[in-house]
Order: sequence, then structure tokens, then C-alpha cells
Amino acid sequence: MKKVKKFFSVIILISGFLFANVGSSFAAAWVNFPTSWDIGQAFAISLTSNADYSNPVVTWMNRSINLNVEQGGAGKISYGLLGSDVRNTKPGLYDILFEFIQDGKKYKASGKINLLARQYPQEKLTVSPKMVNPPKKELNRIRNESKAVGAALRTMTVPRRWTTPPDSPLPTITLTSHYGFQRIYNGVPRNGHNGADIRAATGTPVRAPFAGTVVLTGFHYYAGGSVYIDSGNGVITAFFHLSEINVKKGDKISKGQVVAKSGSTGRVTGPHLHYSLILGGQFVDPIPLLSTSITQMLKKGTQSQVNSL
Ligand SMILES: [Zn+2]
Repeated sequence: MKKVKKFFSVIILISGFLFANVGSSFAAAWVNFPTSWDIGQAFAISLTSNADYSNPVVTWMNRSINLNVEQGGAGKISYGLLGSDVRNTKPGLYDILFEFIQDGKKYKASGKINLLARQYPQEKLTVSPKMVNPPKKELNRIRNESKAVGAALRTMTVPRRWTTPPDSPLPTITLTSHYGFQRIYNGVPRNGHNGADIRAATGTPVRAPFAGTVVLTGFHYYAGGSVYIDSGNGVITAFFHLSEINVKKGDKISKGQVVAKSGSTGRVTGPHLHYSLILGGQFVDPIPLLSTSITQMLKKGTQSQVNSL
């Protein structure tokens, strides 16, 4: 009874024909997502059905994310990881939309997720002045790097190569700076921190959290030595300030493979590994995911039926 109530409060069936195929099949589908979540934190979503379906897409924060269809239990399942970027998300209700095709018909189900404010503290840092206000001659370089990163972050591949929990990028995780810290560089406020800084001596091997394909590498002005890995369904991991890069764009890598060595290149105050997790273009806190699984995360969501007979 409780589930049914929740279903009507969170799901708006935006297409009247959702029930149009009554009698023509015995297919039913369900979506799972949280009704509220903290800004900056990753959450899990799923679509399940007792019958085949195709082209599952979830739209969140203006980005359409293609999901994979997998065998699961007595039917099919699609998993997704989503989140919101602490640097530009305001608290409030946000739309989530699921779409898929079943028995030749297009199904849509939408709901809302209440994103909650979370206090991320401030952090004062002192770096080289040219890293706060870059010299004019570097502006073109910075613009080009930002374009390349933007393109890499829009990568959308269907096969799911991310499996949870991820492998830890380093054997020991000691944070020197948390995700979300609003940073004040030489007294000038800048955006919140878009990843986690992990203690690492220069030259420490860095392992890929997920299997995937390298979509960008380079030595960038701010991020220094950088590697971006696409693992499917909009899940991308990135490492910054590397001293050495051991992979190149297009390389297929396995989970736990060494991709680089940590260092202190770019805008840094000392050697460390910066680890970012990007979900559908949103930089989220990468640390909580290291110790949880998609199954555990989905338990925090609410399952609602999309189509029923
Ligand atoms: Zn960092």
C-alpha cells in the first residue's frame, strides 16, 4: 500500500497511452530513483521489466543518458548513476524522465527529486599568483583545454563498463581536501572543489576505478597531467596533477589497471592525486561510492511501476 501511495505522489504519467496496450502483452516495467538527495552526492537509478525493452534513456539535469539493457533476475534491468554538481546546483525539485520502447510502443515516466543543500566548508589556499590570474598568453591554451574537456565529458556510450564498488585509485585513501570545499585562492573565492584530493607521493601508481576507454589525456594549465576515462552511461572518472601518463586516448583499459603516476603538476600546493567522478556531466563526490554498491544505493530509492496490466 505504501509503495502505491508513493507511486502516485512522485510519478506523473505524462503520456496517456502508457496503459494503451492493456491486453496485448503481459509486460510491466518499474523505475527506481530517490525522492530526495544531497547536492553533490551520487545516486543510483534503475529501470526493470519482466519483458524485453530497448533504447532506455534517462534525462537528468538537461542531459539524456543512454542506459544498457542487461539480464537481471527474472527479466531485464538498466542501471544508472546520477548526481548534481556542487558548483552550480541550487536546492529544489528537479525533473527526472525515463523513456524506453516496449512492444513497439514508447513509454515515458517522469518524477521529481528534491535536491537538498549540504554544507561544504571553505578552504584557504596559497598558490602561485599566475594560477589565480593566468597570464594573457595562456588564455588561448586554457580555452582550448576547456573545450577538449567539455567534449570528453559529453561522451555517451551504451555498454556498462562500470561495476560497483569501484577499485580504489590508490591503496590508501587519506583525503587532504574534500569534494565541495569552496576554495579561496590567495584570498580570491573560486568554485567549490570538483573532486577529492588524496595524499600521494609523486610517482605513486594510479589505478582505474572502472573498466573503460580513455577519452582524453594531456598536461593542462590548471589540472596538470590529466586522464579522463569513459565507463559507459555517462560515467567518467578523471585524475589530475599527474607526473606521468601511461595511457593514450582510445586505449581500452581494465578495472584496476595502472593508468598514470601521481604528481604535482598544474595548480597545486603540493603532490597529491585529484580524483573526480563525473556522472552525466555533473561532478560529484567520488569518495562515498568507493565503499558502496549499486544494489545498496538502489535500496535508498523508491520503486514505482510505469506500465501495468
Ligand atoms: Zn583537487
